[in-house]
Amino acid sequence: MRVIIIGNGVAGVNVARAIADSGVADELIIYSCEKHNYYPRPRLIELLTGDLPPEAIAQYPDDWYQRRKIDVRLGCCVAAIDRDARRITLADGGHDTYDKLVLAIGAHSWVPPIAGAERQGVHTLRTVRDAETIGAQARKAENVVCIGGGLLGLDTSMALVRCGASPVILEALPWLMPRQLDREGAAVLQALIEARGAHVRVGVQVEEIIGDGRVRSVRLKSGEELPADLVVVSAGVRSNLLLAQQAGLSCNRGIIVNERMETDDPDIYAVGDCAEFKGMVWAIIPVALAQARVAAMQICGQGDGLYEGVVPSTTLKVTGIDLTSIGEVNPQEGMFVEKRYQNAAGSVYEKLVIRDRRIVGAILLGDRSDVRAVNQLISRGVDVAPYIDRLFTAGLSLADIVNAQ
Ligand SMILES: Cc1cc2nc3c(=O)[nH]c(=O)nc-3n(C[C@H](O)[C@H](O)[C@H](O)COP(=O)(O)OP(=O)(O)OC[C@H]3O[C@@H](n4cnc5c(N)ncnc54)[C@H](O)[C@@H]3O)c2cc1C
Repeated sequence: MRVIIIGNGVAGVNVARAIADSGVADELIIYSCEKHNYYPRPRLIELLTGDLPPEAIAQYPDDWYQRRKIDVRLGCCVAAIDRDARRITLADGGHDTYDKLVLAIGAHSWVPPIAGAERQGVHTLRTVRDAETIGAQARKAENVVCIGGGLLGLDTSMALVRCGASPVILEALPWLMPRQLDREGAAVLQALIEARGAHVRVGVQVEEIIGDGRVRSVRLKSGEELPADLVVVSAGVRSNLLLAQQAGLSCNRGIIVNERMETDDPDIYAVGDCAEFKGMVWAIIPVALAQARVAAMQICGQGDGLYEGVVPSTTLKVTGIDLTSIGEVNPQEGMFVEKRYQNAAGSVYEKLVIRDRRIVGAILLGDRSDVRAVNQLISRGVDVAPYIDRLFTAGLSLADIVNAQ
């Protein structure tokens, strides 16, 4: 069997790894537009700060691929798929054929339609090249503005602080990390971030990025103008769809897949940031890993693993702030109970969301000690109702509940 994987991000490489380990494929080829071997994108932050050179963030050495007989063709973009002939066309005009094809083509940074967003000095962070450019400019910049106060925006902002900048973080919604935090937790996080040298403005809308060719300032809807010689936009991502759309595969926000990670062509799978399952594109690593496992199993005909979704979990990494957010943290509907804890210093905030006697969401900010226990309680679906009145009280830790099972 000849398997072609398009994309060498976390999704593509993990499909390749699992197929190689199974020994089922005769030929396993990865095509990638990027010129670098697979690196985890969160490590771009270390590149931006100048702590590491690009080769240091590669996950595997060259012989890792050779030992597994994975043929990686870097800097090699796929331009088209001919489904009838089971053939791909490369951007350089070459061709290749497949028995099974995996689309792991990821996503690109999205820039909202802000006037002036095309000016020089306005960047997004997705690739090695982006990290190197932003880092170099940050070390010279006097005024840095970061648009977007989500996970990536905050990690990037803290990296910019390490480059010597004092970025102003602009978030349109009323609090930071609105997908992963509630208002109370976000207030604690904001204080921790400001103590490290960034400035946070929430509930503000950007109207225009002003300059003559190069950015000079950012104007808010209120009319206020913030000086800026570097602007970094972290406003989310959009799936790369063109290749799939041109091949006539069903796409919505992502390439639509079923629980086997099959597109509507049974010989073509889609995984990771480019794939949409049950109307959702999560664009996070745990989802890419779970989908990669399922696609590989299906291609290899090993096991009957189906993708059922994962409880989304995210962690802020380089900020020196411990923050883990898991599952449903801002419940809107149905019956639920919320249990909160905040220490007197205001540096620790924890919240559990309990529905049907089970923890379905958690925020753990400023203290990592409960992360493992909460993950176990959620994944095992432990009935916490008998403990509900004693949660976050002295004498009962979450680990005690795990150990009691
Ligand atoms: C700075 C940063 C920090 C992040 N931090 C976290 C985090 O802490 N936790 C978390 O869960 N997620 C994080 N993410 C998101 C996470 O990195 C993505 O969810 C993950 O990279 C998705 O993997 P993927 O393989 O689906 O796609 P991608 O990583 O986007 O890889 C897709 C690959 O396909 C290639 N490709 C695309 N089109 C073609 C084509 N036509 N031909 C050949 N190759 C093609 C691209 O060049 C790329 O190499 C972060 C992202 C960034 C940028």
